[in-house]
This record gives sequence, C-alpha cells and structure tokens, in this order.
Amino acid sequence: MKMILDLDTGVDDSLALTLALASPEVELIGVTAVFGNVARDLSARNSLAVMAMLGRTDVPVYLGCDRPRTASERYEATLEVKDIHGANGLGEVEIPDAPRAPEESSAVDFIIQAAERYGSELTLVPTGPLTTIAAALEKDPSLARKIGRIVLMGGALTVGGNVSPCAEANIANDPEAANVVFSSGANITMIGLDVTLRTFLPRGDMDRWRAFGTDAARALANVTEYYMLHEAAARERGGCVQHDPLAVAAAIDPTLVRTTAVPVRVDTEGALRGRTIGDNARLLAGPFVNAAIEVDAPRFERMFSERVEALLRAAS
Ligand code: CA
Repeated sequence: MKMILDLDTGVDDSLALTLALASPEVELIGVTAVFGNVARDLSARNSLAVMAMLGRTDVPVYLGCDRPRTASERYEATLEVKDIHGANGLGEVEIPDAPRAPEESSAVDFIIQAAERYGSELTLVPTGPLTTIAAALEKDPSLARKIGRIVLMGGALTVGGNVSPCAEANIANDPEAANVVFSSGANITMIGLDVTLRTFLPRGDMDRWRAFGTDAARALANVTEYYMLHEAAARERGGCVQHDPLAVAAAIDPTLVRTTAVPVRVDTEGALRGRTIGDNARLLAGPFVNAAIEVDAPRFERMFSERVEALLRAAS
C-alpha cells in the first residue's frame, strides 16, 4: 500500500515511523510534518533524521501547518510537552541531521496530488493534530472521496482524555480541524485512547534493543526510554503505551482492531473543548467514522517488536 505519514515527531511518532519503514506491505511515499509534540519545522527535521539513521534518505518530507487553525501565532511546544518528549522531541538524544532538507512544495499539495494519482491505494496515517489534513480536505473538496483511507491516532470516545478529563492531545491541539476531518465523509478509522491505552512497550525491551549493538538501536532505545522515564504513567508502569505505532499497525492490518461506526464530532467550547463524541445531528445519516473500540494488543505488540527489532538489528 502507498502510505503517507502525517507526524509531529515526537517519541512515539519516531516509533510509528520506524514500524512503517520496517513493514514490507508499506511503500512510504512521503512524510508530512505538522506541529504538536514539537514545532512544525523541528517535526520535519526529526522525521528526516530518524529515517536517515535507519538508512532511508529516499523518502521526501513536506511541511504542513505550523499552527492550529484558530491561532495567530506559530505553535511552540509547552514546557509540559518538552518535559515528556525532550526539548528536541527526541528525548534529548542527538540524532544527526539528515543529508536532505524538506521539500519546497507544501504538505497540503502533496497529499492532494498523491490522492489524485493513487486514489483508493493511498492510506494516510495522521498521528498529530489534524490541521494539515483539514486544510487539504478544504482545498480539494474531492479529496475525501478520492483518498483510500485515513487511519488516525486521536480522540477518546469511551474513555477519558489525556490532556483534560475528556480531551486527547492530538484532537485538543486543533478541535476545529478535527471537526472538518471527521465530517468530511472520507473513509476514516479513529485509533483513539480507547485502544491505544491497552497497548504496552516494556522498559526492559530497551536493554534488548541496545544489545543489538547498532547505533540506530542504541539511539532509538535511548529516545524511547527518555519518554518512559518522563511521562508520569509510563514511569509508574515501567513502560509506555503505544499511541502512534498502533495507528500504523491498524492501517497495515485492520483486523488488529474492532471498530464501531459513530458520527464523531468534536466539542470546541469551554471545558469540553477537544472532546470527541457522537454527533446527534448525524446519528442516522452520517458521515460515520470507524472508531476502534477493541484491540488485539498481544498480536500488535508481537508485530511491533518483531518488525522494529529486525530493522534495528540490520541498521548501521
Ligand atoms: Ca504524534
């Protein structure tokens, strides 16, 4: 399948990117960079650097939106986010700059042109705020029906939020953009906290990665362990949940999750801002989102470990 990853790279984005590169089913035709865990330009830089570290300098990176739809100022990560992902987004681990720069053309145009060219073969996997995707859907109203699938990490339908009692971080970072995406009529699978919170990556695995002896394995283990030590829940549990990698895995193998059709909308006002909930105005007519409500976590965790570890062992 042709895949575009829309990333705010970010520790778990790096793991999602690694899983995509480690998966033979995936032809990664491009990465688009959005703000979120880091500012947009740093997200692009980090995606290029992580790919170069894994020996891949063939995948172009395009610049997406650098701020939420309603913001006038360019987005910068909060101190809280910097504490979890490191100020550089990669757990303060120094991963060298890639030999290539982001492309001149925009992420919005790249997504529109890729959907024009590949149609139903194209899977878009956003694991950050949905700002760029919303901008593309608005610039080309035919995009929603042309694109094969959007499998996104975000939202919380049957569980609480992670940045407020009811909001998940990616959606909370741009609720207005999320509304554009969820109501677009595109074929959307929502991989929310409902399922990502049931996955796990134990801290002990990082020792095993480092023992592979490659620079890439050591670096990615150090990046991930930083997150495991600085994110409060991960520190308590001795390992982290796998938000972004599960979206990539579910795009590759949809049988990893069970979904239910819900006309998702996002609250934009007051304390509920960022909450994902069923839209009662669309309950019968849709458009619907396939919201993941169940995950085969052991099978996902095996898939992730086998693939990522094989790539890290073979890296330089
Ligand atoms: Ca992310």
